[in-house]
Amino acid sequence: MYDPKSLKAEEFIDHGEVMETLAWAEQNKTDAGLIGRVLEKARASSGLNHREAALLLDCALPDKNEEILALARQIKLDFYGNRIVMFAPLYLSNYCVNGCVYCPYHRTNKTISRKKLTQEDIVREVTALQDMGHKRLALEAGEHPKMNPLEYILESIGTIYSIKHANGAIRRVNVNIAATTVEDYRRLRDAGIGTYILFQETYHRASYGQLHPTGPKHDYAWHTEAMDRAMAGGLDDVGLGVLFGLEFHRYELAAVLMHAEHLEAVHGVGPHTISVPRLRRADDVDPDAFQHGIDDDTFAKLVAVIRLAVPYTGLIVSTRENQACREKVLALGVSQISGGSRTSVGGYLEKEPEDDNSAQFEVSDTRTLDEVVNWLMRLGYLPSFCTACYREGRTGDRFMSLCKAKQIQNCCHPNAIITLKEYLEDYATPETRKLGEDLIAREMGNIPKEKIRTLVTSYLSDIHDGARDFRI
Ligand code: SAM
Repeated sequence: MYDPKSLKAEEFIDHGEVMETLAWAEQNKTDAGLIGRVLEKARASSGLNHREAALLLDCALPDKNEEILALARQIKLDFYGNRIVMFAPLYLSNYCVNGCVYCPYHRTNKTISRKKLTQEDIVREVTALQDMGHKRLALEAGEHPKMNPLEYILESIGTIYSIKHANGAIRRVNVNIAATTVEDYRRLRDAGIGTYILFQETYHRASYGQLHPTGPKHDYAWHTEAMDRAMAGGLDDVGLGVLFGLEFHRYELAAVLMHAEHLEAVHGVGPHTISVPRLRRADDVDPDAFQHGIDDDTFAKLVAVIRLAVPYTGLIVSTRENQACREKVLALGVSQISGGSRTSVGGYLEKEPEDDNSAQFEVSDTRTLDEVVNWLMRLGYLPSFCTACYREGRTGDRFMSLCKAKQIQNCCHPNAIITLKEYLEDYATPETRKLGEDLIAREMGNIPKEKIRTLVTSYLSDIHDGARDFRI
């Protein structure tokens, strides 16, 4: 029985409710009146429930589909302006005891090179990431209680935060590691992590069992209930995700939104982010062997519908997607992207030597961070390296209430400008710098003159560790 307030995975992701939702959406997919009413609700920016979102995903009326995309673009602008938050993944270790059939880390894969960074390696990798200009990382590791125990993850986080090199600093470490206990989540919170990210991979319980045949990750309930334990441990920014390609995307959309509704119902705060990775080719993994791959247009519609359903939740797209696809989904709702990413362990220094196949998957967007920043600005976006929210305590329900009231812009926009300025001065190529200076001049032109001084002073202290003489 579907119960968003239940703490049991089988009740808050009730299979019967997902199936009924899909049948209802299928039945009504040409009902212009009903779809119009759902669009009106979305237009009021108050979000949609999983049934309404499923209906829009199924919508078979061309004019309404155009409306869905146009509205997603509008809501994206209303809530996020033209800012795009930048981050990079850092792979610590690919040792793993799980048997996930889509992931090259799986225990029985004998062809991948197994690697784990030492603390000295981490210093070198993070220095390289700082030299690119990154301020925000997503830590990634396989699940291996002996090789990658929580103590190793905590020590690595401490190392990362301690590295101050030139003007560089990693100011926010998000963590994507396997489901764990409340006590471990508490320790991660105490280590000062940003968002705790855990992809569900698939919400379909039976498929989940087949796709995760062995290892601790096999336990669907343990995995699906992880965010409740994370919140109980004091981590109030959690990031959901589905690996699209494993199961039917209509099922996943309804279910991930039910998960969001559950978090809101139980903890009073929805997911901070939702990631939408698609399955990629990898060592020992052929994506064509999976039946549920979705094309770029379906993917774009999925992003648009998520944007309408949870306007206040950040949407993340990685370098799994190519430039053209990223361009399309940025307009429709994506608010965070990675740039210059390496998915191999030690990849930021090694530049992918031929004998290294420690990568998790092949990236499609192989451009440098500078190229990505340059491209974003040419498209009219404002790349942001800001990490102020979590440093200023704007997390969990405090972030959500500001965001729902469309107030987060007032903090984010000036902070984005200042962190871009910082990036341009410290790391950009001359061409990118010129482009960025022009962009900043235009952006500042939109802020009332009398506000500029106060904004710059107050937001410098908001984002920055130390005094820095900025002329904006
Ligand atoms: N061990 C952690 C866990 O169990 O959640 C971290 C997972 S891993 C480092 C990060 C994510 O990469 C996975 O959750 C999965 O969604 C994704 N991934 C795995 N194999 C992939 C592939 N072949 N293509 C694209 N993404 C993949």
